[in-house]
Amino acid sequence: MPNREFLEEYPLYRKFKMDLPEVETQLEKPAIHMHCPVCGSEQTFNADSFVFTSGVVLRKCVQKVPYRCASCGEFDRVFLLKFDPEENYVMKVGQEPPWDISLDRDLEKMLGDHADYYKKGLICESQSYGIGAFSYYRRVVEEIIDELLDEIADLMTGGERDRYLEALEQTKKTKITHDKIDLVKDLLPPILRPNEMNPLSVLHDVLSQGLHRESDEHCIELAMTVREALVFLVNQVAASRAAAASFTESMRKLLDRRTK
Ligand SMILES: [Zn+2]
Repeated sequence: MPNREFLEEYPLYRKFKMDLPEVETQLEKPAIHMHCPVCGSEQTFNADSFVFTSGVVLRKCVQKVPYRCASCGEFDRVFLLKFDPEENYVMKVGQEPPWDISLDRDLEKMLGDHADYYKKGLICESQSYGIGAFSYYRRVVEEIIDELLDEIADLMTGGERDRYLEALEQTKKTKITHDKIDLVKDLLPPILRPNEMNPLSVLHDVLSQGLHRESDEHCIELAMTVREALVFLVNQVAASRAAAASFTESMRKLLDRRTK
């Protein structure tokens, strides 16, 4: 088997390029970590066996590969995989349970009326329709960018916030999403920049490239990048606000008790 990321995250029909071994028994079968509805949580799944009907030598074929939850031993995730040793790739041609398009609460709330476009993006992505997925995600970013940038201001204080608000004012003068992002991306607070990775810079780079004559295959990578940067920002902003609110509340209680 190729690798964990391929099994956990690749959509159907996206080719995973690899040098396939000549003999099927040399294929690795990595454990994966995905949600188990029986356990109600994220669990390790193992492929204890998968039998190739093609015999020992690996040739062009489609195989059913069941993965079982190591915790309950009851729930199976099944992948249908196509192997092509001539062109050196493997891809999913089926998956059960299917790709999940349900959204978490913070994301659904922030996306509001635009959640539909986001879900359509996920559906396109699940089928490797890269151009479609990218277009839907770009639309979502365009429609929520003002609100998102406004909310980021609430996470800052002092001079940092003043500089950000000044740049934010400038963003209202343009209608072009990547220009807006360009104005504020370098002023992003550290809490939104994990390991010096700046999700706004990532969005800016991808969105300013546009689609031009890119292939579905290339666009699926761009689409996944946009989705991940967007989901990170939305969730992190929501989590930081919630943490700040709860901290303020508990401090207030503590101080009230002291003054009494
Ligand atoms: Zn389980």
